[in-house]
Formats: sequence, C-alpha cells, structure tokens
Amino acid sequence: MSTPALMPVYPRCGVRPVRGEGVYLYGEDGQQFLDFAAGIAVNALGHGHPHLVKAIAEQAATLMHVSNLYGSPQGEALAERLVANSFADTVFFTNSGTEAIECAIKTARRYHYANGNPQRTTLITFNNAFHGRTMGAISATNQAKMRDGFEPLLLGFRYAPFNDLDAALALIDGTTAGFLVETIQGEGGVSVGTEAFITGLRKACDEHELLLVLDEVQCGYGRTGKMWAYEHYGVTPDIMAVAKGIGAGFPLGACLATEEAAKGMVIGTHGSTYGGNPLAMAAGQAVLDVMLEPDFLSHVETIGQRLRQSLEQMIPNHDGLFEEVRGRGLMLGIKLKAGNEPREFVAHLRDNHQLLTVAAGENVVRVLPPLIIDESHVAECVEKLSEGARTFVGASDD
Ligand SMILES: *Cc1c(COP(=O)(O)O)cnc(C)c1O
Repeated sequence: MSTPALMPVYPRCGVRPVRGEGVYLYGEDGQQFLDFAAGIAVNALGHGHPHLVKAIAEQAATLMHVSNLYGSPQGEALAERLVANSFADTVFFTNSGTEAIECAIKTARRYHYANGNPQRTTLITFNNAFHGRTMGAISATNQAKMRDGFEPLLLGFRYAPFNDLDAALALIDGTTAGFLVETIQGEGGVSVGTEAFITGLRKACDEHELLLVLDEVQCGYGRTGKMWAYEHYGVTPDIMAVAKGIGAGFPLGACLATEEAAKGMVIGTHGSTYGGNPLAMAAGQAVLDVMLEPDFLSHVETIGQRLRQSLEQMIPNHDGLFEEVRGRGLMLGIKLKAGNEPREFVAHLRDNHQLLTVAAGENVVRVLPPLIIDESHVAECVEKLSEGARTFVGASDD
C-alpha cells in the first residue's frame, strides 16, 4: 500500500464539507450538518459571514502580502485595537496557535535573560495541557500521545496536575520562569481553571517575579461570553497566546504581552514571513468589528446559559450516558459516564444525526458552536443530542 498524498496523520471521518452557511456545513453529496464543532472553536462567526468575506475579498484585491521588512499600517491598527481591548501593551502576529505559544515561550525566557536571570528558563505547565504541535508546544505538555517518538524534546518544562495550586507552587525553584496554563483546558476535556487556582498562580507570580503565561487559543476571543477567559477571574496575565477565533477561519494567531514582560523582545529576536500580513489583518479587523459590537458578548453569555440549561435538563433522560455539563459560555463539554467512548458518540451524532461535535480528554464531548447561534440552533442541537443518546444506547445494547 502506498502512502496517500495527504500525510495520514488524521483519522479523517466520512464527512467531506465543500460549503458552509451560517451554522451549517454541506458535504460533497449535499448532506447538511449542524456545525457545533466550528472547526474546533475557530469559526466564531459561523460560515460565510458577509462582513468577514467582504473584508477578505477586498483586501485580497488591494494588497495581500508584503513583508515585515516594511511598515505595516494594517498590523499597527489591529495591534492597537487588541491592546485597547485587553491587558496587553504589545502584540506579535502569527499564523497559528502553536506559533503564538512559541512566541510566548520565547518572550518569557527572554524577559528573565534581559533581567539578568538567564537561569530562569523553566515554565511550569499542567497535566492534560494542549498547546499545539511544534517542538516547543509538545514539550510543554506531558501527554505521551503528542510526545512519543519526537524526543529529544525541549528542556525547561515541569508538569503539575491542573487545578492543583499547591503542587504547582511546590515546583517553583531558582530556574522557574513562570507558569504556562490554559485558563480553560480545551483538548484536555473542557476543564475550567478554578478561581483559587488561577488567582493563586497570579499571586505566586507577583511574589516570586515570575510570569503568568495564559494559553487562550481556544477559550479566548469571546468564546466564554467575555472577550478573554481571564476576565472571569479578575486577574491579568503577563503574556497570552491567542488564535482560533481571532481570524474566525482565516489562519491567524497572536502573542500578547505587557511592555514589561516583552522587554527582551527587541529587534532581531523573533520573526515570521507571513505573520501579520495585510490579508490576515483585514480578517482580524472584520472579526473584531463584529465581536466588539455592543451586544455580541452578552449574546454569547445569554445563549451559552440557554444551551447549558438545555443540556443539563437533558441529562436525567439519558443518565446511563451523560454525567455532567462543564465549561463556560459557548465552550461546553458533556462528560460521558465511564464505559462510553466520546469518539464513538461523536461519530454516532455525526453519521446518524448530522450533528458535529468534538471529542476531548476526560471522557468529554466538546460542544463548540459558532458564537452567532440563536435559540433555534440550541433547540436543534439538543433535539439531535437527545435523539442521538437514545439511539446510541440502543446501539451499544446490541
Ligand atoms: C488549538 C490549540 C493550540 C494550537 O493551535 P494551532 O493553531 O493548532 O497551532 C494551542 N493551544 C490551545 C489551547 C489550543 O486549543
């Protein structure tokens, strides 16, 4: 057997989308799917959002790419807007989440180097973390499925259980640079950082002159009903990686930092050929235009609560399958009872009920709809889930 032209690293399913419209995807044969996966929390505005489409088309015709050798009015404008709407003073644009993480790791190391503490290189990260697939990002998780066979990995990471503040604090020593943590773990199973955990990490950073590096690639950008997930905790990070929703389908990411935390990132220390090109900046601006409309985030919060309530009401009807609902806003997870395999349930929903969701760790099915859903989509999703639960249990009884 020869290797397929597309490197076979994904277990691709039979759905082969060729067109999208709002909250729906259409396959090669015209089949319609309710898309509550949203490209794994990417398509925040759904498919074919007119404002985003128009901005990309117009910018493509005007100027797509130059180089970071030249001045960037487009990059300055989007960076200024992000700075105005976050904790950050400065932004580096990337093409993906994992590159935003690489920039965050480099920024953290360079900060201590610039401070005369070059020995402070270690980031404390957490069990079940997912930070991307580059060498730095896989070194920053202890999940074997992402690391095996890729050693030697990067030095300078230690791992503690997520939401275990004492365990994290116990790892601090003279080589510690800071903490790298998802405010809400996504791939790991939609685990929400507890108030005590996130605020405790912040406090430890202040006490020990460490950096709090948040990975909000999945949970940031409006997904939880606030622009940033950290806003739920009343703390701010020093450095933050963002991607997924930022381009809402256009490949874009960003590393945000305070002026102090970014003080080592001077001319020549980092770069990217494509990062922040005019086409990407136009996409980013269009997404922000929509997200910063006065009612957008409150809609995410309200519809997120509706979806959550509806999911919770459904649980008792299928208590052999569903254990609990977790998450925040429209970053929700349904934990399945032990003995049920989330990947199988996701496949069942997809193949038999035309509902798209995403499997995650800790026996969780992720529900990550576009942020523009309305009540009718909530009702449709819950109907498909209930029906799917009924037929799934039936199927596994055979
Ligand atoms: C998806 C994700 C990444 C990696 O983003 P890519 O764009 O796939 O490189 C990093 N961190 C988190 C939390 C993610 O969900």
